[in-house]
Amino acid sequence: MRTKANEKTIFNSKVKAKRKSVKIKICCEICGWDGHGNQNLVIVHHVVPTAVGGKNEESNIILLCPNHHAIAHMIFHRKNGEYNGPQTPKLLKEKLTKYENDWQETDLKIKIETIALLDKIRKKKAN
Ligand SMILES: [Zn+2]
Ligand SMILES: [Zn+2]
Repeated sequence: MRTKANEKTIFNSKVKAKRKSVKIKICCEICGWDGHGNQNLVIVHHVVPTAVGGKNEESNIILLCPNHHAIAHMIFHRKNGEYNGPQTPKLLKEKLTKYENDWQETDLKIKIETIALLDKIRKKKAN
């Protein structure tokens, strides 16, 4: 059963596994977010899901903020119980960073349009 206390133990054991070989700060390994000092908000993510044989070891663990965790699951979700995403934290880091850069470029136009639209709405409300 996953109780609060249980989850904390699971979290601590995973962080310990992550820390084993490298002394690391508890923060997102992509953007550095540290949960505003609350390390329980930083998510321990298994690069290869444990359900498909990924190990609870440093070599398979990456620390992520909720945003990067959501993105990691969004792009590398399992299909029919199979996992075809990156196999190491280093590769996942590279893929996530590349995804963000590509996304920023292709999405910039939409963002600008959205901001302009919001601006219009706000101005309308203000009147
Ligand atoms: Zn992050
Ligand atoms: Zn995860």
